[in-house]
Amino acid sequence: MTDMLSAETGTQTGDHAVERTIRHNDRTHVLHSWSAQAKIDPLPVEGGLGSTFWDYQGNSYLDFGAQLVNLNLGHQHPDLVKSIQDQAGKMATIQPAFANDVRGELAALIASKAPGTLNKVFFTNGGAEANENAVRMARAFTGKSKILAQYRSYHGATSTAMALTGDPRRWANEPGAASVAHFFGPYAYRSPFHSSSPEEESARALEHLESVIVLEGASTIGGIIIETVVGTNGILVPPPGYLPGVRALCDKYGIVYIADEVMAGFGRIGEWFAVDAFDVVPDLISFAKGVNSGYVPLGGVVMSDEIAAIFDEKAYPGGLTYSGHPLACAPGVATFKVFERDGILAHVRDLGSRVVKPILESWLHKHPSVGEIRGQGLFWAVELVTNKDTREPLVPFNAAGEAARPMAEVVAACKARGVWPMTNNNRVHICPPLVITEEELRAGLAAIDEALTVAD
Ligand code: PLP
Repeated sequence: MTDMLSAETGTQTGDHAVERTIRHNDRTHVLHSWSAQAKIDPLPVEGGLGSTFWDYQGNSYLDFGAQLVNLNLGHQHPDLVKSIQDQAGKMATIQPAFANDVRGELAALIASKAPGTLNKVFFTNGGAEANENAVRMARAFTGKSKILAQYRSYHGATSTAMALTGDPRRWANEPGAASVAHFFGPYAYRSPFHSSSPEEESARALEHLESVIVLEGASTIGGIIIETVVGTNGILVPPPGYLPGVRALCDKYGIVYIADEVMAGFGRIGEWFAVDAFDVVPDLISFAKGVNSGYVPLGGVVMSDEIAAIFDEKAYPGGLTYSGHPLACAPGVATFKVFERDGILAHVRDLGSRVVKPILESWLHKHPSVGEIRGQGLFWAVELVTNKDTREPLVPFNAAGEAARPMAEVVAACKARGVWPMTNNNRVHICPPLVITEEELRAGLAAIDEALTVAD
């Protein structure tokens, strides 16, 4: 049996000896994220191409989570692979104190698409570090330390990013970094504001945010961080007026508005930057994932001219050995070219509105377990309930925080039908690679549709 790289040929080798070695090394020597090690059994993956990846057992899966919602241009995109190979042949690494062609080119491309005067980029290795640095910038700019963040948010697993995170992943990491307070963002389906329309949800959420600002002390608050479309906490699309209202509150109280677009940016909702869909210009945008489809770790913060200017005379108090690593920036530049050449944003908007939305809407009527669907572009959530009237979530997690039946059964039913789903709590998230074809998308949705009957 050959052990040739399947990614090159797009075929499965089915090499069970290789698979056994991978399993052995993984189980013996690798500590996996967010998991009790004895309770997991990571699937050895042999290769992937486009929107599909496969194992050593002859199973292939449509990648409906785009890995961790980063693989925007799909597995083994030839332009991204070539850009890394070419860059490695030319200059594999150079430390950040030097100027470098590909780093500068990517920063210029990002600035060309970013809104307002967001023209300067600080590069990091991923999303958490991007948020750490956005907070550092907000504090340096305002001279105020407290940061407000939403409950139902995820901002990363480093110290400050974890403290900002408003979901239960924070709990095990407490006590966390100081000077963070949380507030409720809009979530009409489970509104703490008991509103009856998206406009009312928006207005009440803004009233609540203003009270939190006043009670926490506007003179202590340097920044407010918000995922433009909340990702792992439920694909919560902001209601009309909410983000412009946050902008107005930031202006009123001298607070920096940080948009976390680590997941929602770079085409996920059919826009370069998700804020473009909501008529708002933040002061800082953190990004990662889709900027280069995660082929090499990369993130960053794009900042307004006003914030960048404070570091003209005063030293920026931060740095990373791999900031703007050429092997990461090269596929970033290639990503921009592919997006423009192949009309990726238009493709995402078209598939989202013409294919995903009507199909998910039909599930609302068809499946007793589907309580709500929501999303935009290729970023959707299907919220599962045991009772549509009470909206009780479909048994999401057991006491140990593990996915319990029947969510585990939904996941198994999807996999049995050739779709690797992304689930979180009581939701199935639909976020495939942005290059997915209409045929693949329809096939994957049909498989999930069938799988949902186990929850009905
Ligand atoms: N911010 C958001 C909105 C995210 O979804 C994530 C990761 O999923 C992060 C930050 C953290 O990014 P990373 O895992 O690259 O540190």
